[in-house]
This record gives sequence, C-alpha cells and structure tokens, in this order.
Amino acid sequence: MRPTTGKFKNDLIDIIYEHRYIKWYDTSSIKVHKGKVIISTYEGVSDESINTALENRAEWIKARIQEQYDEGFRYGGSVLYRGQNFTIEGREGNVFDVEGNSFIIPLGLNVIQIEEACHQIYLKVGEKVLREKVDKYSKIMNLYPTSIKMSEARRKWGSCDYDAKLVFPWRLLMLEDKLIDYVIVHELAHIKEMDHSKSFWDVVSQVFPDHRKIRKELLIIQKDLIRRSLL
Ligand SMILES: [Zn+2]
Repeated sequence: MRPTTGKFKNDLIDIIYEHRYIKWYDTSSIKVHKGKVIISTYEGVSDESINTALENRAEWIKARIQEQYDEGFRYGGSVLYRGQNFTIEGREGNVFDVEGNSFIIPLGLNVIQIEEACHQIYLKVGEKVLREKVDKYSKIMNLYPTSIKMSEARRKWGSCDYDAKLVFPWRLLMLEDKLIDYVIVHELAHIKEMDHSKSFWDVVSQVFPDHRKIRKELLIIQKDLIRRSLL
C-alpha cells in the first residue's frame, strides 16, 4: 500500500499528514518529522479513527511542530553537536565549519540546503573528531582498527566487523563527548572480543568501569532523540 496524505484540521492546527501502512509486527504511531505529521497504522484502519487519533493528540502535535521549528534548520536555529545546542550562522563565502558554539554555513540557503550544509559539517568536522578520539583510545587499549568510516545509520551508534573495520554514524556527534567516547571504546573492544561476553565487558571496563551507568544514559538520550525526530 502506498502512503496517502490528507489534511487534518481543528481549531488548534491545520496540518498535512501522511498515512503509512505498517506490518503486523510494528506498532501504530504518530510522529512529527520536519513539520509533517506521519501516522503509521495497519491496513484497514478507517479515516475516522485516524482523525480521532490526530484530534486526541492535537496539543502534543502542535508542541512537537513548534519544538522542531525552534530546533530546525534555519539561520539562528540550533543543531545538536557534542551534547550542546550550536547556533546555525550564515556567512559570506563557501564556508562549512564549527566555530565556538556555532555551525557556520553560507548565506542565502533554503531550509533543505541549510539541513544539507549542517550534514556536511557533521561529516567533515565530525569525522576528524571521531578519528582523533579513535586514535587516542587505540593507544590506550592497544587495539587498532583497519579503517574508520562514517555512515547515515539512525539506530546504530557504531559497528566493528571481523576485519576490524569501524563504522560510526555522523549522528554520533550529537551525543556528549563521554557517550561518544564510550561508543568508540565499545567498538574498539570488539576488535578483541566480537561478542558481548564477560571478557568483552572486561576490556570495556578497563577504560569505562562505570559502563553500565553510561549505557543507561545512552538509552535515555536515544529515546529523547527519537522523540525529537533527530534519530
Ligand atoms: Zn557491541
């Protein structure tokens, strides 16, 4: 079934929604992404019950749209970088960089181009940051990857294959440094121990004895980023 779109109107909001069909094992949901409401249901759910669901959550939807606008990709808006809000700042010239607490991008871009420019910064500056961190922990742990690559993954913070090739999503750069470092140490530990056995956690513990606490923090922030449609 192809997604259908519709308009949902009440006294609070006037919004476009997209209706997607999901498999039986997924959960119905209402999400707000880039100002658009995405409602996912099984086939056969009536328009009436979709409208009721949207109406029941109208206040919540309105709040999310506002929140995403505030956080959104516009000059003066903010992006999450290393656990903090960085301001998107326009400047003359072909500049893509991080300066102080700002993402510096060229002036005159539209919303989609601003998002793409920020993406470029995460990739360019982010890869450098990750490589430096991997270098640092490789020396501490005496575990060296054969390569490091960036990915577009949303629900995976990192991976390590049997050839010791590490992959990290650029979205990892949204997390605070302690969590980024933990993910790096976790993946480096996989060079020695592929599974999550006791000996694997022993390797991680050498750098992060409090890894249980950090993993809990990571889950909490992950949930929050999903709620904010950042993952
Ligand atoms: Zn693992």
